[in-house]
Amino acid sequence: MAKKALSKAMEKGGAPSAMANPASSSAMAKSALSDREENIALNYAGKTTPAVLWKTFDNPALKGKIQCQLCAHYCLIKPGEVGKCLVRRNDAGKLVTLNWGKTEGLAIDPIEKKPFFHFKPGTKILSFGAPACNFRCLNCQNWQLSQYAREVGTATEWPNTTPTQIAEQAASHKVDGIAYTYSEPTIFFEYARDTVLACRKRKETARLFHLFVSNGYFTKEMLDFVVKEKLLAAIRIDLKFIEEEPYFRITGGHLKPVQDSIRRVWELRQNIHMEVINLMIPGENDSDEQITKLCEFVKSVSPDIPLHFSRFFPDYKMKDKAPTDIKRLLAAREIAKKIGMKYAYIGNTVLPDVENTYCPKCNELLIERDRYVILQNKLRKPCCPKCGEKINVVV
Ligand code: SF4
Repeated sequence: MAKKALSKAMEKGGAPSAMANPASSSAMAKSALSDREENIALNYAGKTTPAVLWKTFDNPALKGKIQCQLCAHYCLIKPGEVGKCLVRRNDAGKLVTLNWGKTEGLAIDPIEKKPFFHFKPGTKILSFGAPACNFRCLNCQNWQLSQYAREVGTATEWPNTTPTQIAEQAASHKVDGIAYTYSEPTIFFEYARDTVLACRKRKETARLFHLFVSNGYFTKEMLDFVVKEKLLAAIRIDLKFIEEEPYFRITGGHLKPVQDSIRRVWELRQNIHMEVINLMIPGENDSDEQITKLCEFVKSVSPDIPLHFSRFFPDYKMKDKAPTDIKRLLAAREIAKKIGMKYAYIGNTVLPDVENTYCPKCNELLIERDRYVILQNKLRKPCCPKCGEKINVVV
């Protein structure tokens, strides 16, 4: 089952594609699916790892509690309990993380697969994720990983890979960078950070770039930490809906923190490149009005942000819906262009020409792609070779 699920997800372009973890789904198949959000006393084997970004309180009413400041849930966690992600626990007044070193899906990918279209086009990356997530998206295509703790209540059998071993893999495969992906990297922040630091220690991997493929539900505190330690070169943020109601109903998160993250990361654009993606789910976010609203928001931050519309395929608890109508995806791209977004793409399809980059001024074809393969790239610097227009790309 694990193999089948992973290869199915791979066809859709976003899931682990190699060296998949055998623990992924066999235990889940036996477990009753559940939506429960209450704290589960997770029985993780092995050591816990000290967490970053949390605080305690002097106020007697909050005595013993910890506030986690890693993601926008800002969980208040009682002693012995875990936060909403189920992998950060209050251990006698100290916050620890439970998924450090638990690796899934180590794979070599083209950067276009994430998708990043305007950051180092044509480069090769090592991708991996870790179990758990701060969202519980009903449509998650990587639910075997992201919802593992929620569904099973344990991840004891998950194999460990140390940051040093990941750096070794990166060196032996001669990749250009590492993508923290498949599940929400914010939730394995300490593991990701230690991997960046392990790479920096080795001569062959010291100059690798590091990318988060994120739901954008991280805090200003986390972003400040990233900036302070210069951890990331790029973040791709998933803006799932432009209305609060479906955001909360389908993901368990809220719209505003994601919008705040998009604004904040754009402010850091000299150091951190950003792209935004929207998965179009039939009947949930694919009306002209919703697409217009979403594009207007992104444009209000900047029309230079690369915007990807991605095709939905039924999965997890949204198997009753059909895949996104191709006409709606094409309409979304047209709306984005009409509103003034300079770079709008369609992903997860085999449509021709919807993944190419054109100069927004003279319409010169700049990068020609066929899914994840670059057929030609005329950009040697971040401007159009024909008319000189500045292009938001890191070459
Ligand atoms: S990472 Fe988010 S969900 Fe997890 S404990 Fe911290 S605030 Fe809660």
